[in-house]
Amino acid sequence: MKVLVTGGAGYIGSHVVGLLIKSGHEVVVYDNLVNGNRQAVHEDATLVVGDLYDVETLKKTFDEHDFDGIMHFASQILVGESMQKPFKYFRDNVYTIINVLEQAAEHNVKRFILSSTANLFDAPNRIPIDETEPLIPGSVYGETKFMAERLLLWMDRVYGMKYCCLRYFNACGAHPDGHIGEAHDPESHLIPLVLQVALGQRENIKIFGTDYDTADGTCIRDYVHVLDLASAHILALEALEDGDSRVYNLGSGSGYSVLEVIETARKVTGHPIPAIETERRAGDLPILVADSDKIGRELGWEPQYNNLERIIETAWNWHQSHPNGYEETE
Ligand code: UDP
Repeated sequence: MKVLVTGGAGYIGSHVVGLLIKSGHEVVVYDNLVNGNRQAVHEDATLVVGDLYDVETLKKTFDEHDFDGIMHFASQILVGESMQKPFKYFRDNVYTIINVLEQAAEHNVKRFILSSTANLFDAPNRIPIDETEPLIPGSVYGETKFMAERLLLWMDRVYGMKYCCLRYFNACGAHPDGHIGEAHDPESHLIPLVLQVALGQRENIKIFGTDYDTADGTCIRDYVHVLDLASAHILALEALEDGDSRVYNLGSGSGYSVLEVIETARKVTGHPIPAIETERRAGDLPILVADSDKIGRELGWEPQYNNLERIIETAWNWHQSHPNGYEETE
């Protein structure tokens, strides 16, 4: 299939592009390279450097290519920032997907895969969290993804566009060969921050809260490897060839506490990684773990990286070879 990947130069997008190409698909990456990196884009993909606000370039891209499907990654992703700058998030995440959907509808593209989030589950009744849980966004960021999911529902009803929303829990890790990985600026995610301490770039890692109702008092998250997320996208694309719209929660099946992550990183890196206990971070739920049985049952998805040590090893491999992200390879 010929696939448009918005945000294909970003962390998750670039791993998906690599796997799409490996699986025999043709890829056009559309990215403004503000947060994405040119070096992250697979050499066999066509890169259009464009902004999703730029309808002319977007339309031209759709006119030039006959897309069979779209994978939409391009968005702002910081939960905390979304609460400080809500309009930036509403504009950048909602206005822009409307532009993509309008072109998709006008060009009769019938398959759409949305990069969605566990931040839709702010008040789960049960852990692990399956797709029947109520959708209660935990932030402006989560709300923008909720709005995107709702837009897709109407695209299906009005245009017959089939969609799949993939709600990632904590995406992490890097390609095992180390050529692409996680490089956010500023970095806010636990695993890269911990590894920056091991690299000597930070003095310590702050533990946000040690008084949660969990075994060791720190928050529990479901860390899912970026290549496992990538394989879910390929399966979803294939399922939409003649299947109905659907939503899936994506996690690795187990939860790890902040302390367990730090301890595992100490083991992998051999560095003591000093940690300081600090206040809770606003908005954090004690436990977020996915129930991903549905995608396993329906599409046969099975995470290959179901071991935290292996996940952190791939991230460590990337961070060691790219201590300053993509900068040094320019
Ligand atoms: N966390 C932490 N210190 C940090 C960054 C994160 O203790 O410097 C905790 C955070 O409170 C959460 C977990 O690590 O419980 C994962 O946070 P991250 O920001 O990586 O992902 P999130 O769960 O917010 O999507």
